[in-house]
Amino acid sequence: MTVPNLVTAPFRALSAALGQDPLQVQGPGGNTSIKDGSVMYIKASGTELADAERKDIFVAVDRDAACLEALEKAGDGSCKDTVLDKSHGLRPSIETTFHAALDHRVVAHTHSVATLVHAISPEGRDVARQKLQGLPFVMVPYAKPGLPLTRQILAQMQHDTRVAILENHGLICMGDTVDQVRDLIASVEDRLAMPAKPVPPVAPANPAPAGFNWSEHSWLATDSAVTDLVLDGTYYPDHVVFLGPALPVQDHAGKPPVVLIKGQGVLIRTDATSSQASMLQCIADIFARLPGDWSVQAIGAKAEAELLDWDAEKYRQALAARA
Ligand SMILES: [Zn+2]
Repeated sequence: MTVPNLVTAPFRALSAALGQDPLQVQGPGGNTSIKDGSVMYIKASGTELADAERKDIFVAVDRDAACLEALEKAGDGSCKDTVLDKSHGLRPSIETTFHAALDHRVVAHTHSVATLVHAISPEGRDVARQKLQGLPFVMVPYAKPGLPLTRQILAQMQHDTRVAILENHGLICMGDTVDQVRDLIASVEDRLAMPAKPVPPVAPANPAPAGFNWSEHSWLATDSAVTDLVLDGTYYPDHVVFLGPALPVQDHAGKPPVVLIKGQGVLIRTDATSSQASMLQCIADIFARLPGDWSVQAIGAKAEAELLDWDAEKYRQALAARA
């Protein structure tokens, strides 16, 4: 069969704009999809939305087959067997099942910093409920990306839902057209916008150890209230995937890309990937906006281990290296 090309210029433009804004998407995070009948295009796993206008980052899947995976009636939830044109070797995003199951033509999922500031905090979630009043939104409890998250989203959806706030994860906006989704994202961002507090420039006295540079986000190590929070746990999945659980306070054989030296600064490995660097920026962007009187809720050790597919022993070692 000839697969119709649904990837329009406006859809690419929205995807690229989200991907190029570090307050919306960091590195390979986030994904967009567009569907018509039984065909859905979705961002391929490992690609970046930022490249949507310069590379082929979208992969066409059989939407009906992907829906069956979403409902756990077929496949393993990876949707790898639902790809329509296998010649390019791309695999669909790990989040394909919820895109397929949502009945809207255009779906955009971001790791919006403004959303995350609210969604990692019990008080923030209450404030978000107030700020979003009048929009058809639902709050979705944390679940591991993939089928567990899809199951949670589908359990919360109402017939008119267009916005989903994913606790400790991000945002989904859905609509019939690219314009509708762009406007909806703008509306949510507008309502949830938080001012970033000015952060002091921190210049650690000691030179960085070999293989590291001091990060521009070193204030995370000198603002003691924030330091305690970033050492205490991990607040959303991509942080765990790219930087490991929380932040380690010393280098170790696992070669963590980022190390926090309490009271001094934050070290970033000289060969850290751009994804790892943008994940560190995301932490700084979130904690520069978190009000001092909001508490935060980490995803917890069990969720961290699930994300890393680590067995108990490897996980125990990583936790030990934190101390
Ligand atoms: Zn996500």
